[in-house]
Amino acid sequence: PQSKLPALGTNIFSQMSALAQKHNAINLSQGFPDFDGPEYLRQRLSVHVAEGSNQYAPMTGTAALRNAIVDKTEQAYGYRPDAETDITITSGATEALYIAITALVSPGDEVISFDPSYDCYAPAVQLAGGVSKRIQLLPPEFRVDWSKLADQITDRTKVIIINTPHNPTATAWSEQDVERLWQIVAERNIFVISDEVYEHICFAQDGHASVLRHPQLRQRAITVSSFGKTFHMTGWRVGYCQAPAAISAELRKIHQFLTFAITTPVQLALADMLREHPEHWQALPEFYQAKRDRLAQGLAKSRLKVLPSEGTYFLLVDYSEVSDLDDVAFCQWLVEHVGVAAIPLSVFCADPFPHKLIRLCFAKKEATLDAAAERLCQL
Ligand code: PMP
Ligand code: GLN
Repeated sequence: PQSKLPALGTNIFSQMSALAQKHNAINLSQGFPDFDGPEYLRQRLSVHVAEGSNQYAPMTGTAALRNAIVDKTEQAYGYRPDAETDITITSGATEALYIAITALVSPGDEVISFDPSYDCYAPAVQLAGGVSKRIQLLPPEFRVDWSKLADQITDRTKVIIINTPHNPTATAWSEQDVERLWQIVAERNIFVISDEVYEHICFAQDGHASVLRHPQLRQRAITVSSFGKTFHMTGWRVGYCQAPAAISAELRKIHQFLTFAITTPVQLALADMLREHPEHWQALPEFYQAKRDRLAQGLAKSRLKVLPSEGTYFLLVDYSEVSDLDDVAFCQWLVEHVGVAAIPLSVFCADPFPHKLIRLCFAKKEATLDAAAERLCQL
């Protein structure tokens, strides 16, 4: 058939994980923990399976899970969404982002996102017939240039996609950033898709600046979350989005025929976990900060320069003292000759990104982080 996405190959995460396996390397590339999620959560899944909760869940998600999310949202952001109309359980954040983009974008609509940007936004925009306008953020700070953003807005701008804490740069927005964004969209008919999958892995002093804290902006936004990140269960493929009723109604039409509903006993186990163990997500910044610091300290004596990580489970390192190779070639070399798999940043950019930066995932056991640091110190 004629390809609808001719420029696209297998994504970088699958490629690098396959290379890590081939070369028996330590895999700090694809973002996933090498430790298991909470025992209570795994036990609750067994219980719900054994008790026979194995038929279709409601299309929008089980009431137990949607209600637990409402309570968690209130605890985290001081805002109570409506469980019936606002929350839709999806197959990971990936499905949530796809249905959000598909619901909002029509042929010819322009969608603004910030590069380096997570890889699933642009293909969904393209399939919807939209036009991606990608604004590059510049290292080492990767801060949004608000006047540049304002300059990119036209009558056709339909959506701005934001992501905080940000994959792959590990930067996080402040509440002032959210307010700046509101000032730009307030007078225009522009929607915001806010990818907040790392909402509970934020090390910023004031915590995570969720769009859900902003009373006006949240009326215009679809906010996306992922249990894969929060409960160390990327393989369970459960996420959700929250949006005002009128927007949710549209994205649910797509969800209804894409996946219809998400695995019932998994939803029930997640609801139990949210209700019974709020301390899990509340302690996540501390849990991951220790891992971040361990890897950073392990690299302190290396020739790699570690950039600050304000959130996510990623750390950027600058390898310009070590090699002149571009980032893709350097990652290939690294996995083959040093036995560590990492992710190049240029693959997340539409325009050339000539910086010598790679991304390392620290969602790993201490022993894994120490072994990787030891290898990287030999560079
Ligand atoms: N957005 C970002 C920024 C991510 O890093 C990820 C996961 N790597 C996703 C979305 C997708 O999350 P999920 O695994 O829940 O589909
Ligand atoms: N989000 C993960 C990362 O950034 C990977 C997700 C995937 O492999 N699709 O590494």
